[in-house]
Amino acid sequence: MDASTEPPVDQALPSRELLGLAGIGSAQQRTHDCARPVRLHGSTTLVNRATGETRTVYSSAQELDGSTWVPCGNRRASACEPCSTRYKGDAWQLINTGLAGGKGIPASVAAHPCTFVTLTAPSFGPVHGVRQKGPCRGRRDHPVCRHGRPLWCSRRHHDDDPRLGEPLCVDCYDYTAHLVWQWYVPELWRRFMINLQRELAHRCALPTAVFRERCKISYSKVVEFQVRAAVHVHAPIRLDGPDGPDGASPALALGLSSEDLEDAIRVSAARVDVLSAPLADGRSYRLRWGSQVDCRTITDTAERDSLCGTRRELLVHPEQVASYLSKYLTKATEDFGVPAQVRSAAHAVAVGASAHAVRLIATAEDLAGQHPDYALLLTHLATLGYRGHPITKSRAYSVTFGQLRRARRRARANPAGLPPDADVRQILDDDRDLPDGFELVSSWVFAGQGYIELDQAAAAVQSATRARIRHHRLDRLISPLREES
Ligand SMILES: [Zn+2]
Ligand SMILES: [Zn+2]
Ligand SMILES: [Zn+2]
Repeated sequence: MDASTEPPVDQALPSRELLGLAGIGSAQQRTHDCARPVRLHGSTTLVNRATGETRTVYSSAQELDGSTWVPCGNRRASACEPCSTRYKGDAWQLINTGLAGGKGIPASVAAHPCTFVTLTAPSFGPVHGVRQKGPCRGRRDHPVCRHGRPLWCSRRHHDDDPRLGEPLCVDCYDYTAHLVWQWYVPELWRRFMINLQRELAHRCALPTAVFRERCKISYSKVVEFQVRAAVHVHAPIRLDGPDGPDGASPALALGLSSEDLEDAIRVSAARVDVLSAPLADGRSYRLRWGSQVDCRTITDTAERDSLCGTRRELLVHPEQVASYLSKYLTKATEDFGVPAQVRSAAHAVAVGASAHAVRLIATAEDLAGQHPDYALLLTHLATLGYRGHPITKSRAYSVTFGQLRRARRRARANPAGLPPDADVRQILDDDRDLPDGFELVSSWVFAGQGYIELDQAAAAVQSATRARIRHHRLDRLISPLREES
């Protein structure tokens, strides 16, 4: 049958409905049920630069609907539950392997001095809160502020009370100090780590440069938004010898214990400060951590539920730390009704953000114009002025998200090829044993995000099928010519 006697394309295709379902179903399967997958068009090709020969390894044109679908990878559970769950699992591995070993990190890492620290924000004014005992803010004398508003609250708020975290008086609450402090948290953390190293060196009676050679400080740090929308920094901090997590603990060589580490943390947290850039009126803030610094020794002899216990319980199990932190990572500021992108305070009002969050965003907009150091606040409105990453770690802490994803790809491609105790830090990207003289060239363009409607999906499948048939016919028309020439 030659090309001219083939039935018309439309008759050769199954119904639109069937195609649409096939398109959506397979896209869902390919993105592991991602809620808003990304659609890409393009290909990966082997190219021989010397001869110009190309061989297509993979092309989105091969897919039924002509698109390559990839998961959105969003860590926020409110944006995409399946991607968030996968992210949370990876975060758990990343944190836990640094405390208990695994994925190639030796189990001996668990014996290194290690503590779980929480650095808090200072007070910017009284807010409604849940107290362990008694009412929100019980005051027998019922004082009022200079705006005539009560500085007391006799309620016992429920966990879901929308007033939680809202100031008792919005005019007394120092929104500017809150925003400026939040803006400088990454710098405050940087200075804290430098100071911690100095403080530990001092305790070992060593110059800092010598101490640095013998002891490395490893950490992973996660921020959590409190109900008053100020961040707290939670970080497992671990002391390593010169070889990081793979080498011996510095406990013996330097005589450092977890208690020494905790003492040094308290001293450094109380000592460091940052002077903010001046506001329009010339005022600057001297910024510090809040006075509440919480340290809990991480040990596998701790009860697994110790974090939920009394505040006097100062031991915590590695898996508890990993669960606690990976849970925070699936959230950002959505509890305040703030979406992932915010253009202005007016936008925040329109999408139903809390009054407290809207005031913080308005303050950020105001600050942005007061000094060049604050200009970028406008790009951090959705995180209420926090400009750091939700999770950061020192290089040697444990494995990375990239290494975990690479290991997962490898395990999917060849489950038998990855032993359970493999060091995921050693897995390199699979280069498919490229033939001599060839290199891999990838070219992708963004085609859209989110599943497409049934009709659109059906149309996409049809047009991709037509393109394939045209391509096939063209191929058959061209090949006899090639043979003749
Ligand atoms: Zn997703
Ligand atoms: Zn209250
Ligand atoms: Zn007031």
